This record gives sequence, structure tokens and C-alpha cells, in this order.
Amino acid sequence: MAGPAWTRKTAGLAPWAADPEASRGRRHPEPPAGTRSEFQRDRDRIVHCTAFRRLEYKTQVFVNHEGDLFRTRLTHSIEVAQIGRSIGRCLGLSEDLVEAIALAHDLGHTPFGHAGQDALHECMRAHGGFEHNLQSLRVVDELEQRYGSFDGLNLCFEAREGILKHCSLENARGLGEIGERFLRRRQPSLEAQVANLADEIAYNNHDVDDGLRSGLIRLEQLDDIDLFAGHRRTAERLYPGIAGRRLIHETIRRMIDDLVVDLLAETRRRIDATAPASLEDVRAAAPLVAFSPRMRERSTQLKRFLYAGLYRHPRVDDVMSRARDVVRRLFEAYATDPSRLPGEHRDRVEAIGLRAVADYIAGMTDRFALREYARLTGEAAPGLAPEAADWPPAAAEP
Ligand code: MG
Repeated sequence: MAGPAWTRKTAGLAPWAADPEASRGRRHPEPPAGTRSEFQRDRDRIVHCTAFRRLEYKTQVFVNHEGDLFRTRLTHSIEVAQIGRSIGRCLGLSEDLVEAIALAHDLGHTPFGHAGQDALHECMRAHGGFEHNLQSLRVVDELEQRYGSFDGLNLCFEAREGILKHCSLENARGLGEIGERFLRRRQPSLEAQVANLADEIAYNNHDVDDGLRSGLIRLEQLDDIDLFAGHRRTAERLYPGIAGRRLIHETIRRMIDDLVVDLLAETRRRIDATAPASLEDVRAAAPLVAFSPRMRERSTQLKRFLYAGLYRHPRVDDVMSRARDVVRRLFEAYATDPSRLPGEHRDRVEAIGLRAVADYIAGMTDRFALREYARLTGEAAPGLAPEAADWPPAAAEP
């Protein structure tokens, strides 16, 4: 039943926005919801799904038991949604679609972050590999089991294309209309482009915060990072004597604001220059959501610093190489003897082969993976079981 017009109105959307009433639709046609737009409905389906709750126990940078205050995939996704919605509103975009894409963008992540993904990709190399973006799409298209008449969440095309942020050309060929843009080198909606850069803004900033909190990076190391150093000076000028967590927060909130304001100005400039009259014009144009060249440089400088100083820190590297080993051994155990899997997953191995093992492992939270490891090998994962953690280091930031 179609609802009254006022409940689903799309007033306020710019001509370049994705309009839920002009959606390319769902794979399985459904009657419209009475009280919500189609993109609201997508967002709501994501919030209620199982994979979304798993994000709480999946590693962003630090594994779950290392501390209660570090970001998880769930809090990361919520921060991406917050930043994305703010940007989307200023640009006249569909906030609901930005939010849906942001909340779903990491649903396909394995346990233990990129280490888990790398290990799973290696294990699956001869069987099509493993890409977390593609896996996020698998989660919403196939793996969630919530509806009587279809698998997955049956999201709108626009949400699905945003969730599939990257995809190899080889995989894109097998994906039909959703893979087309990678082959034709076209862009996704501005809502998807916003969610993508909101992701970068979120992790660059919260990883500085988490890195400092962990003690793995020190405040002085950031003196050479222009974005951080400039805003730190501002905070110190405004609040003489400010230090510790207050200084970090006053600096980081200014960095986020600076990145968002810059992105809005550059994107508006590009929209003015291109004058897209529709979403189709957006798809055919060069990327419109972007930082200015100067800010792009600064954001990349920060990213490089985090890569070398935090993601490749010997302490993180050590934990991650152990995590890779856990994923490899889980894969080996299930692949050589699928009877070790729960019944339903065993049946899926019969039907679709090792992809079902990858799906099962990708769906695990960090701690479920560790429990499975212990069950299958009879021993705790070395250096990863919570009781073995000597964390945080004594010299950690407050
Ligand atoms: Mg992310």
C-alpha cells in the first residue's frame, strides 16, 4: 500500500541526488512501505540485520579484548554515517541513502580486520579470492536470512552500488548491472561518493585518537603532520595549558571540521562546473565529491603516517600475523573436513564449494573465531586469547 504523499516526500533533494521514488528498484519487487521512503527502509533493514550486530565484535585496528574504548567496526560505521549524513544534508543529497551505505559498508569484513581478509584471500586464491567489498554485497544480497520470499535484504540498486565500493574487473563481469560501472568506468551516486570519503575522514581521525590512546603513537610524532599540527596549535592558543585527552579531542574535532568544510567547498565547486541535472549525469561525470588538492595532500600525509606508525607498528603487526594464522588454520580445518561445520554450512559447502567456508569465516566475530580455533585445535590461539594479553602498555596515553 502506497502511503500518503507527505510520509515519503522527497522535497529538498537536489537534482543530482538519488531520489528514492526514482530508484532503479529491488531485485525482488516489493510493494512500497507506507510510512518510509525506499532508502529509509534500506537503512532500517541494515540496522536490524545480524551482520550489523556482528560489527560490534570485529576489529577495526585493535582486537576486541585489547580495550573497551577503541573503535570497533560498529562504532566506526556509526561515525562514518554521522559524517556522511552531515555532508549529504549540505549537498541536498538523500541522507537516508548515505546512512544506509555507511552503515553497511563494512558488513563483509572478516574477523581481525585486514589481516583476516588477507589470509582469507590467500586461502581462496584458487577459488575466486576474497574481497571484503564484494563480501559486503554478498551479505545484503544473499547471506542474511530474514525474509520469507527471498535471501538477503533485497536492498535498492542505489544502496547496493554504494556498498560495492571497489571490485576487480574480473569479479565485476559476473555481477550484472551492479558490476557494470566498473567495466564502463562510471561513477556511483553522490551519496555513495560521500559515504566513501566520510569513511576516510572517520578512520584517519579515530585512528589517531585510538593510536594515541594505545600508546603506540606519541603526540610528538604528529608534529610533522600538517593537518594535526596546525589544529593542535590552534587548540593550544585558545586554551593555554590544555593537555592530554582534552588537547587530543580539541585537535581532532577541528581536523574533522576542516576536512568536511574543505570537501563541501571542493564538491560544490565541481558540481557548479559540471552542473549535473540528474543522477545519470553524476554517473557519467568525473568524481564530483572530493577534497581540494591541498587537503587531499594533507589527508594522504596523515594516512601514510598512520600506515607506517600504527597499522605497521610491530605490536599491531605481531597481533595481526597471529590473526592471519588463526584464519588460515580455521579455513584448513573446515576445508579438509566440512563435517566440522554446523549442519547448514556443511550443506552449503556441498552446494557451492569452498565459497561457503569463506562465507562462514568472514561472518565470524573476533572472539567467535578464537573460540572456534580453540575448539578445533584444542589450544588457545597464541598471543590472541584475552588472558594472554599484556595490554595496554604501561606508558599508554590517558
Ligand atoms: Mg570503513
